[in-house]
Amino acid sequence: MRLSMNGLLSPERGNSPSDMENKHLIFDAHLDLSMNAIEWNRDLTREIEEIRRREAGIDDKPDRGRNTVSLPAMRKGCVGICVATQIARYVKPGNTLPGWHSPQQAWAMTQAQLAWYRSMEELGEMRQIVDSKDLDEHLQKWEDPQGFLPIGYILSLEGADSIVNLDYLEKAYGQGLRALGPAHYGPGTYAQGTDATGGIGQKGRELLREMERLNMILDATHLCDVSFWEALENFNGAVWASHSNCRALVPHNRQFSDEQIKELINRNAVIGIPLDAWMMVPGWIRGKSTPESMVVTLEQMIDNMDHICQLSGNTLHVGIGTDLDGGFGKEQCPADLETIADLQKVPGLLKRRGYSEEDIQNIMHGNWIRFLRRVW
Ligand SMILES: [Zn+2]
Repeated sequence: MRLSMNGLLSPERGNSPSDMENKHLIFDAHLDLSMNAIEWNRDLTREIEEIRRREAGIDDKPDRGRNTVSLPAMRKGCVGICVATQIARYVKPGNTLPGWHSPQQAWAMTQAQLAWYRSMEELGEMRQIVDSKDLDEHLQKWEDPQGFLPIGYILSLEGADSIVNLDYLEKAYGQGLRALGPAHYGPGTYAQGTDATGGIGQKGRELLREMERLNMILDATHLCDVSFWEALENFNGAVWASHSNCRALVPHNRQFSDEQIKELINRNAVIGIPLDAWMMVPGWIRGKSTPESMVVTLEQMIDNMDHICQLSGNTLHVGIGTDLDGGFGKEQCPADLETIADLQKVPGLLKRRGYSEEDIQNIMHGNWIRFLRRVW
């Protein structure tokens, strides 16, 4: 395993053929693990096959019986560290998106999700990472992975509607929340998200000020264009984009324009590349297109990575943020990915495009880890 601490931080550690057979440590900056546990009723301590069998004949969600993420699969793929979300939308009357009818209910859902993470910590399945000390200890364990290791997670909130008022943000920080995306899909309390329009308003500015005081990371993913620019203008703290692709490759407001990517690079951000098929090829039709018919493979992930590297002139601003359990499964992810463990194919694909071993280390985990060390 090429996972030594030196390897994470120092350049080029050699490239022998036997080395290339080994696995890379993978940092996945976007998984909705607890949403799957609590709302999809998935026991993520089980193997993928077992979870799929258990869902046979159920059709309440589009991805039933086709999930690609579980804790054993993450271990198998050396996905030893991730950013894991809490997510709960508040919807006002007339908003047709799924969501809770009050911010208090949305908060309660995030607390159920947190309770699941805590129970995984008690089992030794997961470990929460809140500071540099936690991060270093955890990486040391994965440097030479032996036996059963916990999956490390940094807690993030996708959409801030559940933050009833700013006191709740401080409470959430106390629970280990270290990153926050103010919006998800549609209109939000603190910012406008994907497919919505408009700015962040007074509430958004106050949220950002409090996040800055708490040293919380701003996740720019899902902000609509107006909210994106306003948020960056009103926030002086650390910014990343946990799961966003390039608009130059797939035109839609969910993806970032080159101008936005350049601004994120200026702010020293890292952008995580997601594997939701509709964001990987133009013209995907939900429920109709298939990964095979649209030829969606991990190659488009590399295309997105490469596009960002070309804009930055280096490999320091892109990483992985799969979103592989974000409400879709095999029916809407790359055809050459059966489970999250197949992320180990990515280093080989990058190498074929001429990326050096050092570049590959940056992209697989190094950039996210350096980002967190800098912020903490
Ligand atoms: Zn998302």
